Order: sequence, then structure tokens, then C-alpha cells
Amino acid sequence: MTDALGDWRRSHSCGALRAAEAGQTVTLMGWAHRRRDHGGLIFVDLRDRTGLTQCVFNPATSPAAHERAEAIRVEFVLAVRGVVARRPPGTENAKLATGDIEVHVGELRILNEARPLPFPIEDEVEVDELTRLTHRYLDLRRPAMYRNFVIRDAVSRATRDYLHAHGFVEVETPFLIRTTPEGARDFLVPSRLNRGCFYALAQSPQLFKQLLMVAGFERYFQIVRCFRDEDLRKDRQPEFTQIDIETSFLDRDELLSLIEGMVAEILRRIHDVELARPFPRLTYAEAMERFGSDKPDLRFGMELQDVTALFRDGEFQAFRQVAEAGGVVKAVRVPGAGGLTRKEADDLVATAKTWGAKGLVWIKVTEGGLQSPVAKFLEPVRPALLGALGASAGDLLLLVGDARPTATTVLGRFRVELAQRSGLIPSGGHAVLWVVDFPLLEWGEEEGRWQAMHHPFTAPRDEDLPRLESEPGAVLAKAYDLVLNGQEVGGGSIRIYQQAVQQRVFDLLGIAKDEARAKFGFLLDALEFGAPPMGGIAFGLDRLVAILAGQDSIREVIAFPKTQRGVDPMTDAPAPASPAQLRELGITVVDWDRNRS
Ligand code: ASP
Repeated sequence: MTDALGDWRRSHSCGALRAAEAGQTVTLMGWAHRRRDHGGLIFVDLRDRTGLTQCVFNPATSPAAHERAEAIRVEFVLAVRGVVARRPPGTENAKLATGDIEVHVGELRILNEARPLPFPIEDEVEVDELTRLTHRYLDLRRPAMYRNFVIRDAVSRATRDYLHAHGFVEVETPFLIRTTPEGARDFLVPSRLNRGCFYALAQSPQLFKQLLMVAGFERYFQIVRCFRDEDLRKDRQPEFTQIDIETSFLDRDELLSLIEGMVAEILRRIHDVELARPFPRLTYAEAMERFGSDKPDLRFGMELQDVTALFRDGEFQAFRQVAEAGGVVKAVRVPGAGGLTRKEADDLVATAKTWGAKGLVWIKVTEGGLQSPVAKFLEPVRPALLGALGASAGDLLLLVGDARPTATTVLGRFRVELAQRSGLIPSGGHAVLWVVDFPLLEWGEEEGRWQAMHHPFTAPRDEDLPRLESEPGAVLAKAYDLVLNGQEVGGGSIRIYQQAVQQRVFDLLGIAKDEARAKFGFLLDALEFGAPPMGGIAFGLDRLVAILAGQDSIREVIAFPKTQRGVDPMTDAPAPASPAQLRELGITVVDWDRNRS
């Protein structure tokens, strides 16, 4: 049995009342967060998005309200009218903003009832994610979840304010497009009006923002949804949001400086910190060499050292051979981690192998010397090794001898993982940097040809243009990533704006002329109609907000995310289409896998 709202209007929110309001008659509305029956008195903590107010139902104040309050259960929606009173001395709750007062309820309206909940609306409870997503509207009722979205909103607003103040115009670009090569699979959408034809959902507005530059818009941005049909293992979502930006006539450094201003503004507003500018920069090569990662976490040290020289003529066969074959021996010191067990050390070796290394040498530095399965080979280089790594008793050293990319990336992963495990990463800091000078291309083993490391519209450095065809692997790009606390939050590039250069890159990528024509003919055409120099960047808004909100997963900052399997357990999407829908689209669904067997 519920009541109508009638002519009641809220006078205050549930987080607003203080001792100064004592004596006032107020009307509050919200959810019954907790209900306690204390022999005669019923206490209900009434919750809305701003906080909690303790409401007291006392038969001496209102027998009718008290009797009605017997029916209240958790998450019932209530409207109460009553008088604000100071809590009796000794019963104040210092943890609550409204903890000095309570409302003595004279009238109660039960606006709606609630079934028993699948999980309590408390920040601290652990609930499995499937249950949370199935009842996402309840999950989002938890105050900590709401706070994530307030942060998200503040980030979007800071972004818009900054970009508008710098002459940017927000423009929407189509979702239903031909294709954009961002390196993921396209989601396809069948066209009813053009049977047998499909749109791709935009993986990014890349081509359209470049066309807006050709159109002379000069400064574009968009907070935009992007769609990529990727495997979702790595905290990715099939639809996610970018802060997408493109500019004309700026060189790389001008653009990076403009973008630094935006990032600084966001951090200022959300965390009240002033980032030192210009942001540090590392070249891709340096980042790999020193941190074994193209998104190094600079909140802590533990830089990788190259110790190849120590082993070149040494007795340790394995490393000597690596050095002779042109490989490297890289090392990292994990401060104070020398206490690990034999089993833990063996696990590290196994992990190194799953990451592609041939092996891993671990060394415990003790007062009495080095402990390691290969200690006796290390003895001659002990002082030099300890000196190179600045190691002392209690440290753990890890060494990998391998081809350079393998040695650096494997140790780079250990660097982060062991720093995490040993609690060596300071929390609360903001380590921001640019990684620049990425290679233009990477060799695709599976495809057997060069692939764009960023995307095919990224400009090579001017000085590298002459060797585009002769030494493609050595060509560096005018590409850059912004890294925050070891996570890539943004990436972009200065674009190719001359048709002839674009054609050379397509040729290198093995994109045949007619294929390039078919897929990107409009871009190639546009480049022939007076395209200005241009460059831009896109930020992963979800990732940025997750970091700023202190969340590990982007799912915590997306209102209605999909599971790792790309499913929304609340709406049950994706779902089979009805035969009538399929007929209209001219589509027959075939179970290919079954047909094959
Ligand atoms: N479109 C690129 C991306 O989505 C960003 C850019 O180059 O501006 O990664």
C-alpha cells in the first residue's frame, strides 16, 4: 500500500541539515537506507544522492506515522515531514555530515515499496560482478558509484571548458560509416534500405576529423563513443568514449603544449594538483630501454640496466652467447624483495617463459654474497653487477639475456608487477609524460607485412621521408602517447596531409591502390583539394576517469558496461533477431561452425 506524493515538495536534501536548522519543519524524500526498531522508537536513515538523515518515528510525536513506519523495509521510497532536532548529547554521529541532528517525523508517505534486494546498498560489500551488472540500477545507488560519475562529469566539463576557451568547436561525426582502420575488428550494421550492404560502426572519428580540417574548421573536438569489436580480456569495452581532438597549422610541440594545458586543467579541477609543465618526454626507444614499456610508470624508479658488457667475455655461457648473437642482458633491481622463497623464484622463471623469454636469472643479494642457481658464474662480476644496479643486501635482482625487445619487455613487466607486489608504487601521485618518436611501422608476423603502429594517416618524421621505402623499419613517426601512472590515456599524431605521401604509406602497408580507393578514396580526394597540415589526439575518457577516481576497471566508471564477454546481463544484449527482422534485412543466420563439422 503506497501513498501519492500529492502536494508535498522537498524542502531539503538528505545531506543538508545541520544543527542550525534545529526547530525547522522540513520535508525530505529518499530511500530507506537502514531501519532499526528500538523498542517503541523506529529509526530510519533516509538516503538520497547527497547523504543520509536520521528520521525518528516516535508514537509520542505521531502515533499514525509511527504505525505506518512499521511497514518500512530497506529501499522503500519515502517522503517524511517533521521537525529538525539536535540529537540527544552522546548520540551524535561525527562520521555523518548530518550527524548532529535528526528529524522527528510527524507525517510519513510511503511513495513506493521495494522487493528484498539481491545485495545491500553499501559501499563496502563485495558483490560478484554479474549480479551487480544484472541489477546495475541498484549497484549505481551505492554512493561510491555515484561519486565516480560525478568525477566523470567533472572531467568532461573541464575538457569542454578548456577546449572552448581555446577556440575549439564540438562537432558530431557519424557512427554509421564505411570503416576506420584503428586496428580492431569493425562492428557491422546491416542496411535494410541497401540489402546485402553493411555499415561499420566508427572505431573512431579519425577520417572525419581530418576532413573537418580540410573543411577549414581548424580546431575540432568531440566527446564521442567509439566501437571496436575486440577481445575484451584487457579491461576493454566494445563501446567506449574518447575525447577526440584535431587541429590545423600546429606543429607537434605547439599541439602537445596545448594538450598539456587541458590535462593540467583536468587534474587541477579533479585533484587540486598543479602538474609541472612542460610534461617530461621520453622517446619510444628510451622508454623501452629504461623501463621496458612504451607506457612507463614513473611514480617509481627501478630502471632497467644494460649489463651486457659484464657478460661478453665471461664464463656464463648462456649470457655470453646472447651477447655474441647481438642480444642484450638487461637487469632490474627490486629493492628489499630478496626474501622470496625458492618456489616464488621458480614461479618468476616460469612467468618469464610464458612472456616469451628463454629464461630468467634471479639473484638474492645477501650479506654473505649472491644466492642464485648460477651464483658461481656470477662471482667474477659480482662487484660490477652490484655497482651497476646500486644493489645491496636484501635486494632481488632479475636478469634476462635475450633479443633486445624480449629482454626489455619481459623485465619491464616484472618491474611493474614486482613493484606492485612489494608496495613500492606510491599512491596518490600523478606521473605524467609524453612518449614520442614511435616507429611508424611494425612488422606483422601473422600478416607477413608492415603494419601501421598508430594508424595509416600518421606522418613520418620529415627527416625520415627519404628512407621510407629503403628502411621502413627505421622510420620514426610524428606520433605521441600521453601516459599517466603507467597507463596510456591518450595517443595521436601529426597527420599526412599530402596525397603523394599518403599513397607511399599505403603502398608500404600493402594497401593496394584499388583497395585504398575503395576504402579511403574520399580522404585521398580531399587531400588533393587543399588540405592543411593537421594533427590531433584522442584520450580514452573511461580510462582517464578510472585513474582519477582510483578505480582499477573502466567498468566502474561506465554506467551500463558489458561483461568481459561483451554481454549486458541486464538487458540480455546481444540477442537473436526475429525472423521478421532478418527477412527485412535479407539475412540468413548460418551456424558456420556446425556446418564445418
Ligand atoms: N584516432 C586515434 C585513436 O583512436 C587518435 C588520433 O590519432 O587522434 O587512437
